[in-house]
Amino acid sequence: MRPCLDDPGYFDEGALVAVLTAQPLDRLLDYKAPEGGCFQGAFVEVPLGPRKVLGVVWGPGRGDYDRSKIRSVIRVLDVAPMRAEMQSFLGRAADYTLTPMSAMLRLATRAPGLGDPPSMRKIYRLGETTPDRMTEARTRVLDVLRDYGGLAFTLKELAEMAGVTTSVVKGLAKLGAVREEDSPRDLPFPHLDPDLPGKALTEDQRAGADALRVAIRKGGYGTTLLKGVTGSGKTEVYLEAVAEALRLGRQALVLLPEIALTAEFLTRVEARFGARPAEWHSGATLTERRRIWRMVGQGDAQLVVGARSALFLPFQNLGLIIVDEEHDTSYKQEDGVLYNARDMAVLRASICGARVVLASATPSLESWANAEAGKYDRLELTARFGAAVLPEMRAIDMRAEKMPGASWISPSLRRAVVNRLEKGEQSLLFINRRGYAPVTLCRACGQQIGCDHCDARMVEHRFLKRLMCHQCGETKPIPETCPSCQAEDRLAPVGPGIERLAEEAEAAFPDAKIAVLSSDMFGSARALKAKIVEIAEGDTDIVIGTQLVAKGHNFPNLTLVGVIDADLGLQGSDLRAAERTFQLMRQVAGRAGRAERPGTALLQSFQPEHPVIRAILSGDETGFWKAEAAERQAAGVPPFGRMAGIVLSGSDAGQVFDLGNAMARNDMAIRQIGAQVFGPAPAPIARIRGRHRVRLLVKAPKGAALQEAISGWIAPLRLKGDLRLSVDIDPQSF
Ligand code: ADP
Ligand code: ZN
Repeated sequence: MRPCLDDPGYFDEGALVAVLTAQPLDRLLDYKAPEGGCFQGAFVEVPLGPRKVLGVVWGPGRGDYDRSKIRSVIRVLDVAPMRAEMQSFLGRAADYTLTPMSAMLRLATRAPGLGDPPSMRKIYRLGETTPDRMTEARTRVLDVLRDYGGLAFTLKELAEMAGVTTSVVKGLAKLGAVREEDSPRDLPFPHLDPDLPGKALTEDQRAGADALRVAIRKGGYGTTLLKGVTGSGKTEVYLEAVAEALRLGRQALVLLPEIALTAEFLTRVEARFGARPAEWHSGATLTERRRIWRMVGQGDAQLVVGARSALFLPFQNLGLIIVDEEHDTSYKQEDGVLYNARDMAVLRASICGARVVLASATPSLESWANAEAGKYDRLELTARFGAAVLPEMRAIDMRAEKMPGASWISPSLRRAVVNRLEKGEQSLLFINRRGYAPVTLCRACGQQIGCDHCDARMVEHRFLKRLMCHQCGETKPIPETCPSCQAEDRLAPVGPGIERLAEEAEAAFPDAKIAVLSSDMFGSARALKAKIVEIAEGDTDIVIGTQLVAKGHNFPNLTLVGVIDADLGLQGSDLRAAERTFQLMRQVAGRAGRAERPGTALLQSFQPEHPVIRAILSGDETGFWKAEAAERQAAGVPPFGRMAGIVLSGSDAGQVFDLGNAMARNDMAIRQIGAQVFGPAPAPIARIRGRHRVRLLVKAPKGAALQEAISGWIAPLRLKGDLRLSVDIDPQSF
């Protein structure tokens, strides 16, 4: 179904072309090329039944239908055609993730309104006058325009965002309060100058930057693992790689795991290159996304900074992809098309001949193994920049601490915080649990309050004054009587969450200025960014944070990190738990002592002799990775074997299990490649939004043709009723 395409062909008017649409049909459709012909890769509008849909000319048509019934392409859209290289990337990504091509095309055409001829579009921005008569609708339109600064919108967008009819906008335009303009061209991005003087690099950093420059100049695909302790200047080094790509006239893409990180990064790009790059993320306005999509496609955006979906932008001449914090689990897309952006970056680069830089202080075991095997080049920065030294790390043995009931800050940790307060330095208390308490328990009957739709406990959020399910987001008021036994006032919070820890800290350190950083406590990414800047400027004594603070922020005045529950990640049977805990603890500890003052990290643990805790404390990374690798090798799991999860879901638990059992019994296709099926077992989240979920795990030897076998296995299935099946290649937990 996917012809292999090297040279972009040209099709004369009337020639048969195969068109890929974003409609859920599992095949290409034949059409006749329109008047004037079309190129392979052209974005086109085609008739489908009574509708007109967007498509891409994928290759020559097959002509196995009645030719007289084949319809013509309606028109070719006024955007750069999709390059053969992008077609092949989407095809290979689809094969790898076992995703239908239509879904891949949707990922690649996220910019709405694609193909409106620009000359026909009017755009609307804030005008100079204020109308004499203001209505509520008019106020809303002007508010939207003011909120988005200088941005312009199309008529439909603006009306939709303000929740008004288009005639309100038109009326304002007539009065001059809104300016109507032709938009023949997208606004260009300011030019980034790679030759502005960068920072003077240290010897280590220079060696790394030189090696990357040479590799980029040489051209062709290659991946470099850039490992360096937090604060060693990885960002400085890869910015020099970006500079080199720009000098060669090639485009660069920097992927960041967390939107909250981008503000700081954009400022650094501006300092280095004199202007801000294109910023791609789901929060961007439609107009902005469309602009970036087009500019990237014309080769006019030199550098894109963005979230994982930026990988699907139509780069014309991509020379470099940076995956910062490459070990971060948020690179795995867990909804819709299940892909890992790190792996897709490598795939895309190998097709278009680009360099990939995977940067991390604590690389994933996958990348570590690839570097060990010589598949990736390796660069290492061992020292922190300047006077900064790595924090001293110690465990607080919780078995020896006197803990008053319902408290989580041990006397030892408390003394360390007081000491920092006296010196005017910042402390960070880290707990990886949102909300007030993870469990709400009835003291009369012992029942815990669960979600009505999921197999999960409801978490109390005092800040929101509600109970919330972290699986499906459902909330309900905090009840006064127990839903099971109706006892009054017997419900009690059990265990610590970040809000409860904040409460304890406020009582313990009444004069300290405390900031709480948890993603759910901020209404917008902007508010969160503002808070982070405030902390970095030193305006806070104690930061209390979840996972969010573990990543990449620079807090120069922070000298103490206290981890409330270092054992948390070690429970459960997930084979990746040790790796995650190791990475997270090292990342969090890395927040301390980033400037002149040395830092200390204290880990509260009930099992300080646990091998993972010992490896964290000693910083013996090589030892840790080797031990982890040996265990995984023995178990035959990634990166030394291959895995896939098949998740079945449906509203009827019995039906879902029946299907799982039938599949497990009928596993010829899987056994043929020497692989095994495990399960069915309840999926890691056994029920979401009322749907029961079970999982089959497939474990295959390293070189096995896993995708083909799974395709063969699931192809004959006919899913009854509301049963659904999704395949997760390389699942995050196993
Ligand atoms: P990493 O990405 O490895 O965590 P960064 O690149 O963020 O490290 O560097 C940590 C801090 O040290 C940043 O504030 C950065 O600006 C500063 N820094 C690193 N290298 C240099 C250098 N050669 N000259 C000046 N400042 C530097
Ligand atoms: Zn739920």
